[in-house]
Amino acid sequence: MIKYKTREEIELMRESAQLVSKTLGLLAPYIVPGAIPLELDKMAETFIRDHGGEPGFLGMYGFPNSLCMSPNAQVVHGIPGKKAMQNGDILSVDCGVFMNGFYGDHAYTFPVGEVAKETSELLEVTKASLYAGIKEVVEGNRIGDIGAAIQEYTESRGYGVVRELVGHGLGTKMHEDPQVPNYGKHGRGKKIQEGLVIAIEPMINLGTHRIKQLPDGWTILTADGKNSAHFEHDVAVINGKPEILSTFQYIYDALGMDRAEYEKI
Ligand code: MG
Ligand code: MG
Repeated sequence: MIKYKTREEIELMRESAQLVSKTLGLLAPYIVPGAIPLELDKMAETFIRDHGGEPGFLGMYGFPNSLCMSPNAQVVHGIPGKKAMQNGDILSVDCGVFMNGFYGDHAYTFPVGEVAKETSELLEVTKASLYAGIKEVVEGNRIGDIGAAIQEYTESRGYGVVRELVGHGLGTKMHEDPQVPNYGKHGRGKKIQEGLVIAIEPMINLGTHRIKQLPDGWTILTADGKNSAHFEHDVAVINGKPEILSTFQYIYDALGMDRAEYEKI
């Protein structure tokens, strides 16, 4: 059952989402060749607690860390390790926060140093597909419109859309109804209504859409070993239109990137 949120609840959720955004912005300058994911995870945990939140992923379903950190061919749910990042790698960082009784949950894939052209294009296309999906979060549309837009945008450019993992409703629980697949058909699924809050999170592969799981029971990686990217935003329906509660602006500012978050679509 979908739990629609009041405007007051959405404002509290915005604070949770923004703490995730600030955490990703804090980490951004440190995601360079030589960086140790486990050290970044500890930095994030300290920052979240210092700002009145709790790490949303730590202990959830038994997950051992505060961040999911998934380099290169890892799609999502990677466990932060001690292996240093290298020039040309990419690192998907997914962060959750619990604060004010609500969860924030969003993600960004960072290039590490200089990456290959096909890799930077994968990142750009995956990020753009997230906004293609967000534009569909309009009252009267259906959940299937979101996935259809993401699928059309990415598959037409030759990429693989992961099927097994999906976006989700967000609220007092990290994963609420409805599921928000990154593939689908226009006009299918639940109608989008005022007060809906969802996490949209395309996971897009350079090659095949197929995935496998490591024996650790967590890490998802591409079946063909090619790179995968993951971008996620928390989106609310306010006045019938999508409003992004999270932001990449802290990342752009930290990295000196001349980009602006599309706060309003
Ligand atoms: Mg996430
Ligand atoms: Mg999520």
